[in-house]
Amino acid sequence: MILPALTEAESPFWRPIKYSLFPPLGLATLAAYLSSDDEIDLQDQHVEILRLDDNPDLVIIQVYITNAYRAYRIADHYRKQGVYTLLGGLHVTSLPDEAMQHADTIFTGPGEDTFPAFLKDFKRKAPQKIYKSAMRSIETIPPIRRDLIKRNMYLVPNSIVVSRGCPHHCTFCYKDAFFEGGKTFYTQAVDGALAEIERLPGKHLYFLDDHLLGNIRFSEALFEGMKGMNRVFQGAATVDSILRGPLIEKAAEAGLRSLFVGFETFSPQNLKQSNKKQNMEKDYIKAVNRLHSLGIMINGSFVFGLDEDDKDVFKRTVEWGVKNGITTSTYHILTPYPGTALFKSMQMQGRIKTLNWDLYDTRNVVYQTFNLSPSELEEGYRWAYKEFYSWNNIFKSSASHDSMKHRLKHLFYAGGWKKFEPVWNFLIKTGNLNNMLPVLESILSKVRYETNSIIGHQKISSIGKLKVLSGNIHPNR
Ligand code: SF4
Repeated sequence: MILPALTEAESPFWRPIKYSLFPPLGLATLAAYLSSDDEIDLQDQHVEILRLDDNPDLVIIQVYITNAYRAYRIADHYRKQGVYTLLGGLHVTSLPDEAMQHADTIFTGPGEDTFPAFLKDFKRKAPQKIYKSAMRSIETIPPIRRDLIKRNMYLVPNSIVVSRGCPHHCTFCYKDAFFEGGKTFYTQAVDGALAEIERLPGKHLYFLDDHLLGNIRFSEALFEGMKGMNRVFQGAATVDSILRGPLIEKAAEAGLRSLFVGFETFSPQNLKQSNKKQNMEKDYIKAVNRLHSLGIMINGSFVFGLDEDDKDVFKRTVEWGVKNGITTSTYHILTPYPGTALFKSMQMQGRIKTLNWDLYDTRNVVYQTFNLSPSELEEGYRWAYKEFYSWNNIFKSSASHDSMKHRLKHLFYAGGWKKFEPVWNFLIKTGNLNNMLPVLESILSKVRYETNSIIGHQKISSIGKLKVLSGNIHPNR
């Protein structure tokens, strides 16, 4: 089982730490369907040098858009030797005809139903050329083969996914393309998710779900079950789900300490272009304040290059993030991935400028822009990163929090993430990355507020606890 490195691995922007965070969970999930007698070698090129001189019965390669060419070369290499080769993943689902030229069998969509079906066919020597996922359920998936993961190579070995997909339909997102032909959002059984959490050692968890608060009943039960487990965790959710409450309070009680939030843009027109309904007419600052009042740090995601964006968008976005105490920002240049609604509409308008998938890495402009030239967009993108992560702005942004502990957490988290590259590289080279986990856990420890703070029209009394709320906690109703 191989995860080839993304093309960024060879670019000047390559940050080894960024690609040493999470183990290849998708492949380890599929490995669970193999027999316990099968000898499995799970290789992740982001953290190790691939060994391709073997001759296995089966090679399984996960394909993203910016590792596609590399994945195809590896597949061709094995097929030349007569090894049966499978390709699956986001890019294969978007462009099955392209992938088919390099594989004996391809998979489109998630593999929980199709991979076991393939294995049966393979054993009776009658595999099909293509398996399309239609039945979608992860209620009874077998435990992930975490024994195949080289834990010491990753900063966050305890990554976990308890749902698939997302209830929303943003035009630039892969989600709809990947889940076409079946359910686009579904969860594990709560008991199964809790059992998976129990199996993970240590304290820290990183939920890689697209939207951890997407199914209210499921998430409520999950957080209820996690209370008392003494975990700290990170995850992702949408602006509307944060404002809706009280789920976010329950998440904080269960141990949520940092959240990835897709703000993407401040322009209503851009939100419309992106079909980002969950952000429309929502008060971003209220969402930010609510998270901060719960001691939750924020990783804000922002997209540059939507049609309304002008030359000021970079400055506006960085200043907003610094002023509002966003801990880390992830900036992207708009990228129309094949298979998405955005790609289709740009293609119809003749705006796609290249089909070189290596450039579809959210750092390059691959489409015809409107108000900004491609070089303005690329320069602005790079400027935004540099500016947001200047020490000056890290200090300024940290200082915006009420409590000293939150200020320090912000400072260490943002500074540690962006300013100590040689230290990270040393830890990666010496195989000691996992030893940093206790540091991360302590940075993610609970913030206890000693003052009363006002969020919008709500008063939050938070002496020692995060939960005691009075007044209407549904500001959008
Ligand atoms: S909310 Fe996020 S995961 Fe869901 S469709 Fe939009 S971009 Fe994709």
